[in-house]
Amino acid sequence: MTTDNSKSARDFIRDIIHQDLRTNKYDGRVHTRFPPEPNGYLHIGHAKSICINFGIASEFNGLCNLRFDDTNPIKEEQEYIDSIIQDIRWLGFDWEDRLYYASDYFEQMYEFAVQLVQAGKAYIDELSAEEIRNYRGTLTETGRLSPYRERPIEENLDLFQRMRAGEFPDGSRVLRAKIDMASPNLNMRDPVMYRILHAEHPRTADKWCIYPMYDWAHGLEDSIEGITHSICTLEFEDHRVLYDWFLDELGIYHPQQIEFARLNLNYTVMSKRMLLKLVQERFVRGWDDPRMPTLSGLRRRGYTPEAIHDFCRRTGVAKANSTVDIAFLEHCLRHDLNQRAQRVMGVLRPLRLVIDNYPEGQVEEFDAVNNPEDPSAGTRKVPFSRVLYIEHEDFREDAPPKYFRLVPGREVRLRYGYFITCVDVVKDEQSGEVVEVHCTYDPATRGGDSPDGRKVKSTLHWVSAEHALEVEVRLYDHLFNKEDPTDVEDGTDFKDYLSPDSLEILTSCRVEPFLASASPGSRYQFERQGYFCVDPDSTPEKLVFNRVVSLRDTWSKIQKQQK
Ligand code: ATP
Ligand code: MG
Repeated sequence: MTTDNSKSARDFIRDIIHQDLRTNKYDGRVHTRFPPEPNGYLHIGHAKSICINFGIASEFNGLCNLRFDDTNPIKEEQEYIDSIIQDIRWLGFDWEDRLYYASDYFEQMYEFAVQLVQAGKAYIDELSAEEIRNYRGTLTETGRLSPYRERPIEENLDLFQRMRAGEFPDGSRVLRAKIDMASPNLNMRDPVMYRILHAEHPRTADKWCIYPMYDWAHGLEDSIEGITHSICTLEFEDHRVLYDWFLDELGIYHPQQIEFARLNLNYTVMSKRMLLKLVQERFVRGWDDPRMPTLSGLRRRGYTPEAIHDFCRRTGVAKANSTVDIAFLEHCLRHDLNQRAQRVMGVLRPLRLVIDNYPEGQVEEFDAVNNPEDPSAGTRKVPFSRVLYIEHEDFREDAPPKYFRLVPGREVRLRYGYFITCVDVVKDEQSGEVVEVHCTYDPATRGGDSPDGRKVKSTLHWVSAEHALEVEVRLYDHLFNKEDPTDVEDGTDFKDYLSPDSLEILTSCRVEPFLASASPGSRYQFERQGYFCVDPDSTPEKLVFNRVVSLRDTWSKIQKQQK
């Protein structure tokens, strides 16, 4: 895929890799992996991790695996696996034949566990989950030893084998590593390696009733695949000693875990648990609702993979957690769409405009520029006639001082068309609302310039009423009205901060006939209104557009203010 990813800045992860290449630490290999748990759809935070892992592999001529970390059968589903594959492909990355599943290693993991038991480094505990928690102690209080900790090795081996054979109910026993109940790092206080779970697994069906815990499984997966740099997010920093301990005790190939700060965005949530709630409780239309921070939501909204790459690159790789302004994501998107989006005229809230002195039945065609940023995009014909639609907000009867658009008696330009002057208005008798504007045009201004050098202060977009297509437009705003919806007050919940204005549907918008053949997923700039993407809900009778983003770049504005 062609993005300017090649310009990737040096960051601490890339520095480590350069260093390892200099010292020939892994025989000059660079091998990363992206290890999603298939328990939800991917979101923009995952995109960050994907861009880092696949990006680094390609920059260093290395490899990146896609590995499903499917160790928890209760929450995992094939639907999630399929969506994850689709989303990573959409981002433009390729794992060739290296698609792996943690469940493929269950047998080998079991054997590694047996090895630790034989070495006296793991034991079967019969304390309940709650007792284990209580025995663990706290940051200020050392843990207590389980009464089962000193079981003979033979007994542990026998019980572990019987756990696997299904002799015991869920929760009745676990396999724990025997490390140090007094360690200042709680992760080292005899962590659980296996639990009993009589659950059907999407891939191994009922073959297993014991399942490995993340900390035990993850390093083994990395080791088995020959990963060199196991890049993960900061919350695993305190788990690294455990990652190292397991691999060292087993004496097997040992990749290096490196942690970076996860991506956070304001006005949204990024926890899979919360996103699942929004979907299940129908606060949104689905995982791909265009308001969701999921990759499928962003795609449906009209985001491009290139904009997401650019955003991930420009937000950098950090060692400390922070929150990125969602306005910056939108800024990256505008930058990309500005270069590639076809321009058209679309009227969101139509107001009829009649040109009294324009010949009835006459139709002219004007040449309109498809993309001022890209001359090769050429021009198209836009029909013009006596009755047009303009944007309701482009006309005011009583205008405030700085309002330069159409008002009674004022002359303005119609884009690509003529100068027009408002001469009259028609109002709804009951509501008093203006329902039609009457104008005259100056035939000498064809194309939008006046031969006598007369100036006008504004240019309006428009469509010809008889030629325009009626379409639906969905306008979006932030999903939440609080910067950090997870920062809740007592008695509230993140859902209480869902914004009631996150979706507005306009059903009788008008666009140029040029768009008749627009297909789902195609993106346009409606001049003066923003970028719009054709939604798959479109039918042959009626197109549906999502507003991807408006034209107002709030991030640039914030930057200027700060300077
Ligand atoms: P959970 O483990 O709670 O289900 P998760 O978001 O960690 O959620 P995973 O499927 O484990 O989900 O994530 C796959 C990879 O994506 C992990 O390596 C994880 O560190 C990374 N990742 C997840 N969220 C972010 C984020 N916000 N920023 C950067 N990387 C992320
Ligand atoms: Mg995770």
